[in-house]
Amino acid sequence: MAKTYDAIVVGSGMTGGWAAKELTEHGLDTLVLEAGRMITPEADYVEHVPPWEKKFRGERDRKKQLVDQPIQKECYACDEWSSKFFVNDRENPYTTAEGTSFLWLRGRQVGGRSIMWGRQVYRWSDLDFEANSHDGYGVDWPIRYADIAPWYDHVEEFIGISGEALGLPQLPDGKFLPPMELNCAERMVRDGLKQHFGGERVLTIGRCAVLTADHNGRKACHYCGARERGCITLSYFNSINATLPAARATGKMTLRPYSVAHSLIYDKKKNRVTGVRVIDAVTKHALEFNARIVFLCASTLESARLLLNSPTPDFPNGLANSSGQVGKNLMDHIMGGGASGRIDAPADRTTFGRRPNGIYVPRFRNVKDKHPDFLRGFGFQGGGGRGGWGRGIDDAGFGPEFKNSLREPGPWTFGFYGFGECLPRPENYVEIDPDTKDAWGIPALKIHCSYGDNEWALMKDASYTAAEMLDAVGAHDIDAYVERNAPGKAIHEMGTCRMGRDPKTSVLNAHNQAWDIPNLFITDGSCMASSGCQNPSITYMALTARAANYAVDQMKQRAL
Ligand SMILES: Cc1cc2nc3c(=O)[nH]c(=O)nc-3n(C[C@H](O)[C@H](O)[C@H](O)COP(=O)(O)OP(=O)(O)OC[C@H]3O[C@@H](n4cnc5c(N)ncnc54)[C@H](O)[C@@H]3O)c2cc1C
Ligand code: SF4
Repeated sequence: MAKTYDAIVVGSGMTGGWAAKELTEHGLDTLVLEAGRMITPEADYVEHVPPWEKKFRGERDRKKQLVDQPIQKECYACDEWSSKFFVNDRENPYTTAEGTSFLWLRGRQVGGRSIMWGRQVYRWSDLDFEANSHDGYGVDWPIRYADIAPWYDHVEEFIGISGEALGLPQLPDGKFLPPMELNCAERMVRDGLKQHFGGERVLTIGRCAVLTADHNGRKACHYCGARERGCITLSYFNSINATLPAARATGKMTLRPYSVAHSLIYDKKKNRVTGVRVIDAVTKHALEFNARIVFLCASTLESARLLLNSPTPDFPNGLANSSGQVGKNLMDHIMGGGASGRIDAPADRTTFGRRPNGIYVPRFRNVKDKHPDFLRGFGFQGGGGRGGWGRGIDDAGFGPEFKNSLREPGPWTFGFYGFGECLPRPENYVEIDPDTKDAWGIPALKIHCSYGDNEWALMKDASYTAAEMLDAVGAHDIDAYVERNAPGKAIHEMGTCRMGRDPKTSVLNAHNQAWDIPNLFITDGSCMASSGCQNPSITYMALTARAANYAVDQMKQRAL
């Protein structure tokens, strides 16, 4: 502990893995502090375990989850296979403002949530980076698409993204491996949309961080269909499969699991952070680790919590918080406006293999025209398929008739599910709850967050336009809906340490560097100044790689 590392990275998930890779590849002696346990693919990945080998046949240990994971169980992925990758809610408490709820869905292990993510990756465009400056919500991003484009390339080339180039200005194309195939129902809907909506509404296969060809020593996906359970062939990207091994290969990374960062150590004379206070999760001993620079990659809410838990006489409201913006402007995509219906795709065809991916319809609202009811926009995920064994008995009856009918696939159905942009608003914020501590004695967060009228208007329109599209392509039995999901459920929380152009109104500059403390970088989702409507992790990764390279340059120039 007497050693001073070149860099400390807090967190080893999606962004921590990238920080570790970039910093070590540039020769920095880097300590990665990870709160959770080590993950060993051979023992922990469970994608090929069939339901009949699970105690509850895949139906979850519901009694145990009610006690240990009453919040995490709200996530579709926290199932009987993958619940072990989600936190224990009793050990990791937080509170919410009266009358509101927020689902904080988290993983605490080496790899973080990169193990369970859905792997959908969509670049942002200037429509997103300029949004705040156009309508006045939040602060202007200090960067534009041209600043981040080479870093999207850099990340995509390393992690491997399959997808189709579309040439749309609102969803820039990337460095794609061959796209996965649409099934015949999806092709019908794609062609129907083209016919009825011209180029305005476009259906494409999801762009996803799953390999369709061998890539950088990782194998192409074999379509076993499992999600969020690991992948022994390393076919989907996560930190354990790709970035952490790259960092380890440099010989420059020290990865320390069970290391819960408690707060940051600040030297007023130098105006630098000099290290991180840690609670060893096993022994509960307090430790300190020192470094020349610190990267916070602990996730949006955890990084804000770390700063708020590190007040000093100069920063009484939390470290690097002279702007008062740490913890503010929390966003999460609003999701759940959509529609589904039956589609008359060929009855003699069905799907083959289990494609771990769906379709995407890029944003089409407020792209060229201005919608009268809301700002910004939404995109659709979803897909087409035939009902299988799990389909309702309503369709099939009882007894022998029921059993026989299950030998055949069910009808073709198709669904669109909307993800909408959330505006940055100061009313959505987090603070330290003085009365609540986690299992390691660290003060917990109190979250104040709710969606506003604009978000609900987006979902209403998503439901309407989804039904309109299904109707246009000849679907029937259309069911349009708007789910009343609590914030957090989209698991795209971001914005609590925003980037900006002015130190008075933002926490980070254009390089994710704290305005107040030059050797502190924050590159997880907390840095986001707005939310776009695209899944955000590829943008976090690109910003992390960009910031790490900037930090290395600054160190070489002895500016840090
Ligand atoms: C089921 C699911 C589906 C998703 N699907 C998608 C998708 O399709 N596309 C997309 O873009 N995003 C998706 N996401 C979101 C994505 O996983 C996150 O955006 C991403 O993982 C955030 O990266 P991060 O590095 O900020 O945080 P994480 O990946 O969560 O990593 C944070 C790490 O920091 C560690 N940590 C936290 N606090 C401390 C501390 N005090 N001390 C030390 N270590 C600490 C944690 O243990 C963890 O390992 C999904 C998430 C889930 C759960
Ligand atoms: S579907 Fe593909 S990416 Fe997913 S676990 Fe199976 S092989 Fe891996």
